[in-house]
This record gives sequence, structure tokens and C-alpha cells, in this order.
Amino acid sequence: MGKVLIIGAGGVGTVVAHKMAALPEVFSEIMLASRTKAKCDEIANKIGGNRIQTAQVDAENVPQLVELIRNFKPDLVVNVALPYQDLPIMDACLETETSYLDTANYEPKDEAKFEYKWQWAYQNRFKEAGITAILGCGFDPGVTSIYTAYAAKHHFDEINYLDIVDCNAGDHGKAFATNFNPEINIREVTQRGKYWKDGKWVETEPHEIHKPLNYPEIGPKESYLIYHEELESLVKNFPTIKQARFWMTFGQEYLTHLRVIQNIGMAGIEPVMYEGREIVPIQFLKAVLPNPGDLGENYKGWTSIGCRIKGLKDGKEKTYYVYNNCSHEVAYQETGTQGVSYTTGVPAMIGAMMYMKGLWKKPGVFNVEEFDPDPFMAELNIHGLPWNEVHNTNLEMEY
Ligand code: NDP
Repeated sequence: MGKVLIIGAGGVGTVVAHKMAALPEVFSEIMLASRTKAKCDEIANKIGGNRIQTAQVDAENVPQLVELIRNFKPDLVVNVALPYQDLPIMDACLETETSYLDTANYEPKDEAKFEYKWQWAYQNRFKEAGITAILGCGFDPGVTSIYTAYAAKHHFDEINYLDIVDCNAGDHGKAFATNFNPEINIREVTQRGKYWKDGKWVETEPHEIHKPLNYPEIGPKESYLIYHEELESLVKNFPTIKQARFWMTFGQEYLTHLRVIQNIGMAGIEPVMYEGREIVPIQFLKAVLPNPGDLGENYKGWTSIGCRIKGLKDGKEKTYYVYNNCSHEVAYQETGTQGVSYTTGVPAMIGAMMYMKGLWKKPGVFNVEEFDPDPFMAELNIHGLPWNEVHNTNLEMEY
């Protein structure tokens, strides 16, 4: 059906490549390119069958990207490198008139801040070029945004309250490790909390608001209110939302390590001089922490991510909870990666499939909740992330 270029050979890229390789009727040709070509070759060899071509690319170098895209001529570029590379990859897509998909919004390197404004600014140029950008097509953002769109389409006339709940109840046996790129992960979880309330953003100290939430098949887990990028697009696209919050579970051991890392300056993003050369502390930290892609082997337990929604249907108040539970062990058996890479990579593959099938294909820049959620929701059940729904249950929304 079409040719796809995947950029980024990390944990998520591994899952995307595995899943796409198994669907030759949709992804007729696949190229995996990354900064380190050896990592692409390793993934391609594991998948076998000559399904994956590989290439080296610096995704911050637009001319290099343009050359790669001109040579391979993909229908779609799937960006699963780092958020820093979103804009150069979008620039190269514009120059070559190629559509684009990612799983995380742009973040400048020198400021731990993510916002959609930089990518939304491409709207007119993508529209004029007749190409599509699909933003935030992992699990969160991604499936959580699509769950919300699905709820709005089928179960509510008006969504008023939204709690996105993200639990990782897995155990990888390490004292401290992050489930995706450590630099991006630590930048995300150490920033100030923020949620939407009555038309404006309310800020909190990092991890200031927390409470136990009950997760299906898992039980109560302490959950912390943090800011997460899909809140920004969801309150824009569903303006009836009065309150939107994001909760993530953290273990005490993880939080203690995080506090020490911050207190001793190892989470710093400003360069420091070390033995005559500049190093960025958090980048050095990444080099000594476990590689998230290698956590899978001994990872046990589940992730549980979902949306808890309160609103109106036919004039009556109702509640709705839609979620997926994913087993780290099952994810590892299938793709050799842990659950967080899996829950991100599968939706990226399905988003790419939506584009290839012409279902999510329109000129401009869109967050995933702006497309029809139904065909995507159907594919989740087929490709390893089945969802469950509970109507009129206690959503534990009060603090
Ligand atoms: P990894 O660190 O495992 O992989 C990132 C890959 O990108 C690495 O292979 C790296 O290459 C490559 N890369 C980095 N810089 C460049 C560059 N300049 N040019 C080319 N390639 C580059 O990260 P993950 O796989 O864990 O995460 C990938 C993305 O997924 C991130 O953007 C993350 O934010 C996002 N994500 C989204 C989630 C969601 O639910 N929406 C959840 C989890 C992650 P090298 O190996 O050479 O360093």
C-alpha cells in the first residue's frame, strides 16, 4: 500500500518496525534510519526477511533528511526519535512534500518546556503543500486523546471533566530506571504540575497533589498530578471541558532517586565544564542509567492507562472509564521491548496505517483527536492493545 520511513531506532522505533514489518499489505517498504546505523541494522536483523532497509541520518540536519527522503521517497515519515528533532523533520517533510507523524511534541533543548505552538505554526504550510502532519500518536498523547474523541463521539453530548490516569505497576528489578528516554522523561516529570480548571491553567509545585487511585486488576497506587502535553490540545479541541488533569503513578524509591538526582544537579540541562570539555549533566546521567530498551527481559507486571470522563448525555450526568492494561512480559515476548515502548509503538504504527489507508489523510497539522477515532479503536483491539470500558462507575475525581 505504501512506503514508510521510521526515524529513531530506540525502544519505540523497535516496536514500530516490528509491527509494520508484520503488515506487508499496508507497509510495502520500510526504512529505519537513526543516528547510529548499527542500532537500525540490529533491529532489522532481528526482524529478518529483508523487510527493513536501514540508513544513517542526523535528524537535526535538514539537508541530510531531505536527501534521505528524496532517495527513498516514502509516503509517510514516522518520527520516533526525540522531541528535539520534530521541527527539522517537519521542515524536511515540507521541502519534500511528504506527510509526517510523531508521538511527542517539540521541546527546545535549552529549555525544559514542551508546547504545541511550534508545531501548530506549520498548519498553513502543510495545508498549502497538501500534506498531513499527525501529532502525538503514541499512548499518551495518542490513545488517551483518541479515547477522549471516541467518548465524545459515542457516549457524551458534552465532556466536562477529564482525568487521564497513567499507572505503571511493573517491576524491572532496578533501583532507578526510566521507561523511555531518560533525558526526556526526567525533564517531563520534574517540571511544575499544571491542570486545566474553568478556562485557565492552574500551576502546582512538582508532585504537590497526589492521592491513591484504583487501577483495574492492579489496585490502589499513589498517583501524582503532573502536566502532560495532550491536555493542551484536548481542552482546545473539546471546549466543553471544565477540568482536565493528568495523573501518573510513581513508586517511593523512584521519587527518592529523582529528588537526589535533582538536588545534586544531575538533572541539569545547562552545560558544565568537566576536564576541559562541556558536558550536560542530564545527558551524562542518561549514559550511566539503564537503557529503557533493555529493561524488558526481567520486567514483570502491567501498565494501565486510561481516561476517566464525566459529562452530560441526553441531559443527564454520566461517567465513563476507558482503559488498556498491557503486560510488560507479553510485550517483551512479542517485540523484545518493555510495555512502555510497546504502548507507544503500537499506536504509532496504527496511526501510520490510518494514513496509508487514506482514513486519516487531510492537508494540515492535526492532533490525533481531530480524526475519526473509530477505525483506530478497532485496530487497537487487533494489534495488542485491547481496551475496556466501564459506564457509570466511581471515577475517584474528588481530591
Ligand atoms: P530512545 O532514546 O530509546 O530512542 C530514541 C532514538 O532516537 C535513538 O535511537 C537515538 O539514536 C535516536 N536519535 C536521537 N537523536 C537523533 C538524531 N539527532 N538523529 C537521528 N536519530 C536520533 O527513546 P524512546 O524510543 O524511548 O522514545 C522515542 C520517542 O517516543 C521520544 O520522542 C519519546 O518522547 C516518545 N514517547 C512517547 C510516548 C507517548 O506515549 N506518546 C511514550 C514514550 C515515549 P541513538 O541511539 O544513536 O542515540
